[in-house]
Amino acid sequence: MVDCHSRIWYAVHFLYLYIKYLDMDYQSLLEEIAAEVKPLLGQGQVASYIPALAEVDSLSFGMAVVTLDGSVFTVGQANKIFSIQSISKVFNLVLAFSSLDEAIWRRVGKEPSGNAFNSLLQLEYENGIPRNPFINAGAIVLADMLCEYFSEPQKALIEFIRKLTNNSSIEYDIRIAKSEMDTGNRNYSLGYLMKSFGNIRMPIDLVMELYFKQCSISMSCKDLAQSFLMLANHGVVPYSGERILTMSQAKRINSLMLTSGLYNEAGDFAFRVGLPAKSGVGGGIVAIIPKLLSVAVWSPELNGFGNSLAGIHALELFTTKSGISIF
Ligand code: GLU
Repeated sequence: MVDCHSRIWYAVHFLYLYIKYLDMDYQSLLEEIAAEVKPLLGQGQVASYIPALAEVDSLSFGMAVVTLDGSVFTVGQANKIFSIQSISKVFNLVLAFSSLDEAIWRRVGKEPSGNAFNSLLQLEYENGIPRNPFINAGAIVLADMLCEYFSEPQKALIEFIRKLTNNSSIEYDIRIAKSEMDTGNRNYSLGYLMKSFGNIRMPIDLVMELYFKQCSISMSCKDLAQSFLMLANHGVVPYSGERILTMSQAKRINSLMLTSGLYNEAGDFAFRVGLPAKSGVGGGIVAIIPKLLSVAVWSPELNGFGNSLAGIHALELFTTKSGISIF
């Protein structure tokens, strides 16, 4: 009897939550958030170790929510394209995982690194196997796998992202890629170190070119939210119905975003926001809520971990004010 009552209670509670989420006024929520984070603009530092990234308007702010039923809500510069940088690591992981399946985990780990995204230390004593796909070394290994698997890897990757986003105009930003290539000594070091351990198989220049190009891709908050909806939809692109990942693969990628998507700030981000997400040094962060929506934010000034200062705050406000997270 007690069991029956508690089941009914839970059913009513979930129905209430479901109706509440469907009814959410995302537009007002985004506007409220944009107003609240405004005082933070001006308090971080734009990434300048890639010279072309420093040319951005540092006070920019945009945010977009796209729900699984296709509704789009935006505030600020949500349609302005910016350099997605490390957010691209999710795309190269999805493409490699969907092409090569479980074999990828022999060459890249699944643990949070607790170190800076471009650190060489761990890689040396862990024999050239990067801790996870979202630190630079991990993404470089995945770029190597894509170079081995596809005859035209750059074309394969950009077309894949266009398909996920339903936007054929997404492009590599050659100027940013060149700027990073000219100053990317640390990333080349990661590549060479892994090659010395036999974990890079293709010619280093080919692999690094793909890595720098993927980081240079320009997208808007709206594009990013759109492209990540597949991960909120258990691996199926909602607008086309195409399955990209199995349910289990989508679960694994979301889990990795939760534990490692924000470099060595992933724990604090999970604590504050409670969503799987990925950030980039261009100031973007994109997060998903399974079966409901994806949300992307952009504000180029970064905190000391290399994550968007206002962006993290905006996402914290998003889950706190709406009461929606994965927990
Ligand atoms: N292209 C950047 C780098 O390799 C990506 C870093 C990032 O966004 O975290 O340093």
